[in-house]
Amino acid sequence: MEKADLLLIGGTVATMNEQFDLFEPGAVAVRGSDIVAVGPAEQVTSAWEAKEVVDCQNHVVMPGLINTHTHAPMTLVRGLADDLRLDVWLIGYMMPVEREFVQPDFCWLGTQLACAEMARSGITCFADMYYYEEAVADATAQAGMRAVCAQSILKFPTPDATSYDEGLRRAQDFVARWKGHQLVVPAVGPHAAYTSTPEMLQACAQIAQEYDVPVHIHLGETAQEVQDHRAEFGMPVVPWVKKQGIFEAQVTAAHCVHLDDGELHTLLHHGVGIAHNPSSNLKLASGIAPVVKMLEMGLPVGIGTDGPASNNDLDMFEEMRLAALLAKGATSDPTAVPAKQAVAMATIIGAQAIHIDHLTGSLETGKRADIAIVSLEAIHSTPRFHRDPDSIYSLLVYAAKSSDVRHVLCDGRWLMRDRVLLTVNTEELRAQAAVMARKIDRFLIAREESVLSKLLAIGDVAREKTFEVQVKVLLPDTSSVEAALSSGDLLVIKPSQRRQYDTYFLFDDPEHSRLRHREDEVLNDDGSVTDADYRLTLTGPTKEREFAHSVLLSRSRFDAPVTRSLRFYREYFRPKEEWEVHKERRRYHIRYGGTDFAVNLDHVTKPKLPGSFLEVKSRTWSAQDAERKAELIGELLEMFGVKEQELVRREYLELAREAARLSK
Ligand SMILES: [Zn+2]
Repeated sequence: MEKADLLLIGGTVATMNEQFDLFEPGAVAVRGSDIVAVGPAEQVTSAWEAKEVVDCQNHVVMPGLINTHTHAPMTLVRGLADDLRLDVWLIGYMMPVEREFVQPDFCWLGTQLACAEMARSGITCFADMYYYEEAVADATAQAGMRAVCAQSILKFPTPDATSYDEGLRRAQDFVARWKGHQLVVPAVGPHAAYTSTPEMLQACAQIAQEYDVPVHIHLGETAQEVQDHRAEFGMPVVPWVKKQGIFEAQVTAAHCVHLDDGELHTLLHHGVGIAHNPSSNLKLASGIAPVVKMLEMGLPVGIGTDGPASNNDLDMFEEMRLAALLAKGATSDPTAVPAKQAVAMATIIGAQAIHIDHLTGSLETGKRADIAIVSLEAIHSTPRFHRDPDSIYSLLVYAAKSSDVRHVLCDGRWLMRDRVLLTVNTEELRAQAAVMARKIDRFLIAREESVLSKLLAIGDVAREKTFEVQVKVLLPDTSSVEAALSSGDLLVIKPSQRRQYDTYFLFDDPEHSRLRHREDEVLNDDGSVTDADYRLTLTGPTKEREFAHSVLLSRSRFDAPVTRSLRFYREYFRPKEEWEVHKERRRYHIRYGGTDFAVNLDHVTKPKLPGSFLEVKSRTWSAQDAERKAELIGELLEMFGVKEQELVRREYLELAREAARLSK
């Protein structure tokens, strides 16, 4: 008799080898970290004996599941901000929180939490991409799990690198240190095409080739990304990435939702593995990847959970089922992705997709002992049929739950026995995660207290405070002003015709903040648009001071070019009220008394207000300066022939609100 360390006997052994061999009753013999025998129970037990024998009757003995794409530390931001569009979620919440909190200890804790969750659902191996990947690798190794760990690199600053050069150095150091580890395969993780420069991708390809390690990248996740890429570079994403040499390495591409046939053929030609993430693609409404087509072509399509912030759990039983169901729904073909194929995608094909199928993914002699033992005793798995042996796969995909996983073994070591985790301290992890959640809560609550801090949190622009003196006049007709402007007494520098679309967001914060989004179109003589400018201005409703002739001193707390869509700001700020004011503006820059003034002749078109308005404005820096400018404005008003009763002390927003009240 040959000696093994462990014998798993009496269960239904689903090997997931090339022939999909099923043994019932079957047995698996494990010695050290390796599988040394797999086969019918009688055959294995007549040749092998072991110190430890586990009776697996009424259980499926199968390869540990492989999660081909995740961001493990993000367990710590699970459920932080949901049901948002990708940009609001990412730029509004994830990135500011990551900038503030992501440190090696955060990554270590989050990864251990992820490992605990994954092991409990039968996952023994995952492919990760995050920051401080060394901490992720260390937490994984200590939990006894297998992983391909990719150090993220982005073209802009990240929590662990101020530039991509630093990110590349970090990736290279990490790969050099972890190469050859028993459990962790280090990898290079250029985040995505749209977050990379060509030079950055070329350097990533070089590191991957030099150290012979895989590359993990997001490709074609959203339609927008693909559309933007084509517009900017005049070619689809995949050929562009190929041009940078990335496919010379072993690549795993996550998502691939919006790639065309030609791009898929390129991936096939270069042996690229695909990580299909059904929950994440649905939750972020990214679309449905053409999985059936990919599999027909022969692309290895594994299944992934994606990060816990976009899923929100790490349950491969759920993903396996969803992958099978989604493929059927998307193709109107109930035979698409049958259960057997879904299990293969979650095991052996997944291992191929992340380029470690020589180690794991199936129960075969010589591979590592990464094994999940799943109970068939639950009510939802009852009864069991034997006419068609493949019914075991449909039981696993359509009926079994991750909570049916009873024992898990990785690299020959028990991670879980009778649903008790043996390599991580779950109570301690929960306590530490609660502490982290309180810190993140406090950070976001403080930020949400003011519109300004919320604005600065997403700002890639500096805060700018401005003061302005201004007067507004309602004119029955503008002829006297126009006459004064063309009289030659005033130096008129630059007249222009504009159309301005203002959207005001009103808040009920203590400052009663109002945020104005302005689209300012500059028109030609023929009325066509020659230029457009977008600005965001934060003010309050109150004026700082009033001078003679109703000249008001106003202050804006933030004034910057717009960097995102109006829709983004609306969804991010969720204002209490929203108002629109459109106007046609004739703008003159004049110099008077050695001072620059803007003179506007406005006609408000939305809401339609009678008459025209004259505005005279100037930037100011001190109280004394403001007083002097207020006097000059008084002189200008006299030149324009303005009467006292025509002065308006309210802003367009107030006039619009009043018009709305009156029209009710
Ligand atoms: Zn991802």
